[in-house]
Order: sequence, then C-alpha cells, then structure tokens
Amino acid sequence: MRSTLEELLNKVNIVDIVSQHVKLRKSGKDFLGLCPFHNEKTPSFTVSIEKQIYYCFGCHEGGNVINFLMKLENMTFQETLENLAHEYGVEIKKGGTKRSNSFDAMLKLADFYHHNLKDTKLAREYCARRGITSDIIDEFKIGYSDRSRLKIQTFMKNSGIPRDVLLNTGILRVKDSDVYDIFMGRLVIPIFDVNKKIIGFGGRTIEKEGFPKYINSPESPIFSKGTTLFGIDKTRKYITEKNEVFIVEGYFDFIALYTAGLKNIVSTLGTSVTETQLTRLRNYTDNITLMLDGDEAGIKSALKLIGRLSDMDINGNMVVLPDSHDPDSFIKKEGIEGLNRVINAKKPIMDYYFDYCMAKWGVETLENKNHFIKSVLPFIEDIRSGVKKRLYIKRLSELTGVEEHHFREEPRERTTEGPSGHFISSSMIERRVIGALMGKPGMLGILKEREVINYIKDAEIKEILLNMCEFFDKKGSMEVNNFINVLEKDSLRVLVTNAVFDVAGYEDNELEMVLLDYFKHVEKKSTKDELKKITERLFEAEKRGDDKEIVELLNEKKKVLAFFKTNQ
Ligand SMILES: [Zn+2]
Repeated sequence: MRSTLEELLNKVNIVDIVSQHVKLRKSGKDFLGLCPFHNEKTPSFTVSIEKQIYYCFGCHEGGNVINFLMKLENMTFQETLENLAHEYGVEIKKGGTKRSNSFDAMLKLADFYHHNLKDTKLAREYCARRGITSDIIDEFKIGYSDRSRLKIQTFMKNSGIPRDVLLNTGILRVKDSDVYDIFMGRLVIPIFDVNKKIIGFGGRTIEKEGFPKYINSPESPIFSKGTTLFGIDKTRKYITEKNEVFIVEGYFDFIALYTAGLKNIVSTLGTSVTETQLTRLRNYTDNITLMLDGDEAGIKSALKLIGRLSDMDINGNMVVLPDSHDPDSFIKKEGIEGLNRVINAKKPIMDYYFDYCMAKWGVETLENKNHFIKSVLPFIEDIRSGVKKRLYIKRLSELTGVEEHHFREEPRERTTEGPSGHFISSSMIERRVIGALMGKPGMLGILKEREVINYIKDAEIKEILLNMCEFFDKKGSMEVNNFINVLEKDSLRVLVTNAVFDVAGYEDNELEMVLLDYFKHVEKKSTKDELKKITERLFEAEKRGDDKEIVELLNEKKKVLAFFKTNQ
C-alpha cells in the first residue's frame, strides 16, 4: 500500500503550488523565479516539473513540494502533509486523526462561545462600550464564556466531539467531577492559522477585578504562542501587496487598527516578537515595522532582534505611539489620519535606540560618553550589512568625537569556498555522481560491487549513497522527490536536490560517462593509496636493513602496478 505521502507526491504538481507564492516563468525544461527564502534581484529559484523538486542556486535551499510548504509557512512535516492531503482529497492513513479532531473541537468551541456572546446582554454591552461592533464580532467570530456550568455540560453532550478530545484542548477542565472552562467571564477571540483553521483562543476579562486581564488557551500540538501571528489569515494578502507589515502585541490592538483601515498588520499574543515569527513574516515581506510602547522594555525587546533582522535582510523599523498610548486607545483618539502621521515618522530600530540612549546618557561628560558607546556599540556590531554598519559607526563617531577606527573590528579573514582555479573540488565531483546516480540508479549496483563507498571521505556523500542503495533495493525506483523524504538531515536533502539540478542538462550517455569516469578514478586512487603505503613500509625496512621484507614489499609493489596498468 502506498503511503499518504507517496500518494500526495504523486497527485500534487509542485509548479501549481509554488506558483501560488512565487511568480514563475518557463526556462527550458524548468521554471524560474525569485527565491522566496532569500532576497534577490535576479532569479535563481528553479523548479523542475519533471523531477517535482525545487532548488535555489542563491541560498541553496531545495526539496520537494512538502519541504517547500514547510519552509514557506513554517509548519511541521505532519501539518503540511495534513493540509495538502485535505486540499487534494487524499485520505490520511494513520496517525493523522488526532490533529483534525482538535481542529474540530476548536471550531465547535468557537461556535459555542460566539452564540453565547449573542445571548448575553452584559457581554454585548461591554463590546458596544469598547467600540466592538456586531460586524467586528461576526468578522472575528468573537465569543463569550459565561459562568454557566450547565451550558458547558450541555455543550459537551451535544457537540459530537468525544469528551477526551474536548478535555485534551486544555480549555475545558474537570474539577471535583464538575466541568468548567478556563475562559469563564471572558471575551473569547479565536486564533486562526494561515489556512483559516482555529488553533487556539485568547481571552480578555470583562470583569473589573478579573485577573489577569488576558489569557491564552494552553500550548498544544496545534498551538504555540511563540510562532503564532494573530490575524495572518486575514492580512497575508495586504502584507504582500504593500510589501510591509506592522506588528502589534495584542489582538484588540489588531482589531482596532484593522477595522480602522490599517490592513497590513499582524499581532503577537501579548508577547514580544520572536525569531520564528519574523521568519514566517519574511515569507511575505522584508519590511517589518514594530509598533510598540516606547518604554525601555519595548525598545530592548526590539533591539534583541537587530542581529536577526540583519541576518535575514529585513528592514526593521519602529513606530512609537506618543503619550503612552496603545494602538487601540490611540486610534480611538486620533483616528486613521493621526495613525498615518505616526506611521510616516517610523525609524529604523537602531535610530530609535540612538535617540533613546542619547536622551538617557547624553555625551556631555566622559563617563556619559562611555555609557553611550557601551550601550550602542554591541548592537552596531550585530549588523551584518557592511554599509549600514559603517554608517552607524560614522554616526557614533560624530556624536561622541571618538575616531571611527576605534570602533572598527579587525577585518575577519574570509575562508575561501573550496579550491579555486580550474580544478573541480572532489565534493563537486561527488555531488555530480549523486546526481548521475539519481538518473541512472541501475548503476548503484556497480558502485556496491566495487566497494566505492569505502573510498569516499565526505561523511554526507557517504550517507546519501548508502541511503540511495537501500532505497533502490527496496523500491526498485529512484524518484528524487520520494527519496529525499528518507533523508534525516536537511543538509542532505539540499545536497541531493542541488546534485540533481547540477546534471539536469546531461544526456543519458553523459550521465553514464560521469559515473564510469568516477569509478575509474576511485580505483586509481585506491591503487595509489596502496602504493604509497608500500613505499612507506619499504623506507622503514631499508632503514632497518631488513632485506627479507624489502624483497617481499618490492614484489607486492610490482603486483599492484601490474594491476594498475591493466585497468588503465
Ligand atoms: Zn534562495
């Protein structure tokens, strides 16, 4: 029986999926586009319709359609598989039911809370006071959990979701054989993933003494605070369109701004922005603006991201709202015009920090100057772009009167990428061998017969070849998009896809030549190694004056040389 994965890979066309995210144009047998995983101006992202794989010659990312979606949407293998299977009507054969059950449970809970809100005057009035209109309530499927245990019990009985699945969400709980839910007395806001499935909830108390003000549903296999972007299901297209995203820190801030007309935004779940969230957003834009409180904690959390932003080639800006407003209160007071004014005054995070430190320390005394430099310099050093870094060093120098060269790091030695010149490095050759074997898997037999693997030093190449032999023995075929799923390390998958594209233009007989040449080369090399060893032993024997061994070694050498010549 074919696995779900194989069935899917058979059914899905990688070009269809990739072209939903990347503008592709035909180029020979393949398709070419701008890589979604790194910043580039000339396309090096290649998709092979024939092989059903992609590879980027710029950032060396490659794989099959599953790897593409995993990387792009930052989802796990299982998540990607389930989503695709759902989309293509492929039944998931085993182990995949638990998650869909939790999705069902979440959806049923959302409906339950949503109806509750409509039935509860107190909650409706609270919403009206806060400017949460019934349109907003419907659009965001906002709900309310009252304190009625009877309602929860009835819901559990009638939901059609098994009791243990509901309890596994961690939202409904049992205490002294009584069921309660963690959101009692709170507005409940469903959190959707990119695919518009509910993965969790946020809850805001509407009671004066309610504490804490905000809570989230517990972390689960489908929900993790640090990776979730609230609102992305609604705003993804605006973010791509405007090529910019604003990040706020709470769902009510999001809702306030979104309904006021700022659509290219997302929100964290009340926490600072994480690297994972940045990586996800990087799939849609490289202009990221944090909309934060202008206090030290806000700036510090933004600063922590400077190195990472720079690594990812993201332009990281900051907007600080005046008079310790949060986005929700600000938009209510100043409207969208006021917000646009503030947005237009956004600054790079580093500039903000410069201003902030200047206000805090100043450069009047030597001591203050020292504090200023010590606060700013480490973050400048985190900037990867040479130009940007030099500009900030220049500014630091101008502000403090300390000469630039005091701030400059010693230029680091660049390691060269493999041997240069007209020699092709051995790993290049071996990569081509892997590519050729993918096309001519029948020749894996010769590879095994001549024990070629024993002569390969590169551990990754060795691991791939061993896996290939095993895969071909088992399946009798060698489709690359299937094969890469058995490789455990990402680096191996990338190496294989790279290898396949390396030999993409080769004819069948050329592939054969590559392999035969290589096998010959390995044999020669092993002979040479053997000769070298004999010579070393000869040298030792001569030093000792061991005539008997000398004669034996000379004979051995003759034999090896004879073998070498007949095999030339
Ligand atoms: Zn790339």
